[in-house]
Amino acid sequence: MKGFQIFNRASTAITNRATPSKLLIVLTAAGGAFLAISDDSPFRSLTAGESGNDGGKKKKLVVLGTGWGGTTFLKNLKTSAYDVHVVSPHNYFTFTPLLPSVTNGTVEARSIVEPIRNIVRNKPYNVEFKEAECYRIDPVNKKVYCRSIQNLGHGENEFALDYDVLVIAMGARVNTFNTPGVEEHAHFLKEVDDAQKLRRSIIDCYERASLPTISDEEKKRIMHFVVVGGGPTGVEYAAELHDFASQDLASLYPSLKDYLKITLLEAGNHILPMFHKKVTDFANEKFQKDQIDVKTGSMVVKVSDKDISTKNRATGQIEAIPYGVVLWSTGIATRPVIAEFMEKIGQAGKRVMATDEWLKVQGCDDVYALGDCASIAQRKALEDAAAIMKTVDKNNAGAVDVGDFKEFVKDIYERYPQVRKYLEKNKLKNFESLLRNAQGDSQKKIDIEALKKALSEVDSQVSFLPPTAQVASQQGKYLAACFNKAGRCEMKPEGPFRFQESGGRYPFHPFSYKHSGQFAPLGGEQAAVQFPGDWVSIGHASQGLWYTVYASKLVTWRTKVLVVSDWFRRFTFGRDSSHL
Ligand SMILES: Cc1cc2nc3c(=O)[nH]c(=O)nc-3n(C[C@H](O)[C@H](O)[C@H](O)COP(=O)(O)OP(=O)(O)OC[C@H]3O[C@@H](n4cnc5c(N)ncnc54)[C@H](O)[C@@H]3O)c2cc1C
Repeated sequence: MKGFQIFNRASTAITNRATPSKLLIVLTAAGGAFLAISDDSPFRSLTAGESGNDGGKKKKLVVLGTGWGGTTFLKNLKTSAYDVHVVSPHNYFTFTPLLPSVTNGTVEARSIVEPIRNIVRNKPYNVEFKEAECYRIDPVNKKVYCRSIQNLGHGENEFALDYDVLVIAMGARVNTFNTPGVEEHAHFLKEVDDAQKLRRSIIDCYERASLPTISDEEKKRIMHFVVVGGGPTGVEYAAELHDFASQDLASLYPSLKDYLKITLLEAGNHILPMFHKKVTDFANEKFQKDQIDVKTGSMVVKVSDKDISTKNRATGQIEAIPYGVVLWSTGIATRPVIAEFMEKIGQAGKRVMATDEWLKVQGCDDVYALGDCASIAQRKALEDAAAIMKTVDKNNAGAVDVGDFKEFVKDIYERYPQVRKYLEKNKLKNFESLLRNAQGDSQKKIDIEALKKALSEVDSQVSFLPPTAQVASQQGKYLAACFNKAGRCEMKPEGPFRFQESGGRYPFHPFSYKHSGQFAPLGGEQAAVQFPGDWVSIGHASQGLWYTVYASKLVTWRTKVLVVSDWFRRFTFGRDSSHL
């Protein structure tokens, strides 16, 4: 009884205390601390921000989505100036980079999620969470319409929320390219549910193929696992599946060893197209050794319950391949609710919702968007040539000296980052060199035509940011920082000069993405990592780096401990193949 009381008290202490203290209790109770406790947990409670204003009526800030963008925004929001309402069909945040590890039990599903209420607890702002999906955004009346994911009675499922400021961070849906049969028969890997279903389906296949009533031909079909899409997720999944099959399932189902086949279908010419050729070549060689059949130039045209039909892009030949499980991983597309919203704000027909460089949605007020659901439409420098000229030519002389641009060069670089990229690419020392090249004769002044000539090529360096967690989380952090310092920056703007408008400065610096590299786990405890500047490292050491980086990036101490112990469990006992 006494023991039970002690246990009870310890458990209450663990539940009620702040996260680092919980960790201390857990580790001490476990008899030995193996992780150093740091005070810089990303989910520590924060002090009120400088623009907080509890005196007047607070503005209502609605955040749609609790993925990488939405959660990082909420985590970094430090102002108490808003009443915050969060809407998402998932009441948790998912660490998506570890979803492939959930598909085979290397990591358990609950280890990579964190309840959103835990994350926003102890924040300086009031926050309410609604587990629902937004199905319509009305920018005119500033309302979002939502539907609970619980199946409640008639009239109880739906509700509307007013907003003063809206942050859209709803991510994207899987792109099926309208390929017939994909929605019905293929697996996706976007959510935790998807990973769990996939894990069950693989074990289903092994158990079904083990039944005495199954013919040899049917066994071959059932044991054929097809991955569609040779991007990082498809490649990682194929590698994870191979490891699961060879390291764990082969000894448990020895009679099925020879029936197993893994095929990776890619419509383009090579897998991992966003990586350096060294990585692609290594992945191809490794997969060949692992007997993963990589078929490039193979476009899937139809999926039925038992066959997947591919078209060879070179020959046009159609082939129907029998399969047991197919994973569809071919990229992302706009969600219907966003597409409908885009129509309302004059963005119909665009591939993805456009924001300006400050993440404000173009065509409506007080709406911001980040992550996979939006893309920054970078302002073109050439379009602003006349405005830049007018600013520099203070005396309206019609032409200026190259040196007259000096005062605005920093603003030009910040407002049009493509200019600096162009200079780097063409090995030009600075903006002055660009102008001098366009000027031709060093005696001549720069007029609008010369400036247009100088800027004529720079916009070729405008690039779109990739749909990654890195981008979404940096945007979330950036936007929260803007909200936090809004009051200060209104008084003392910190952004670049407004060339197109009547002068003055933008309140904030525009969003600027810092790429810190990309991993491609390739199985067999090997990975490729590509750092900025195309510096590539491949092999076991990179896999070690992968473990370290991902453990450190996990969003709470709880998930860090759970994932590390899952890895430890997997190394010790192997992956669990129970048919749950
Ligand atoms: C398997 C996998 C592995 C990946 N690995 C990496 C990696 O290693 N590195 C990397 O940088 N990126 C990786 N990514 C990409 C990364 O996960 C995404 O780019 C990132 O999640 C985008 O963040 P987001 O906030 O825009 O969207 P998400 O993180 O997808 O979040 C969207 C949120 O919106 C919610 N939502 C959906 N519909 C609605 C609605 N109607 N109303 C309200 N809320 C809604 C969702 O529940 C979710 O909470 C991976 C993705 C996957 C699927």
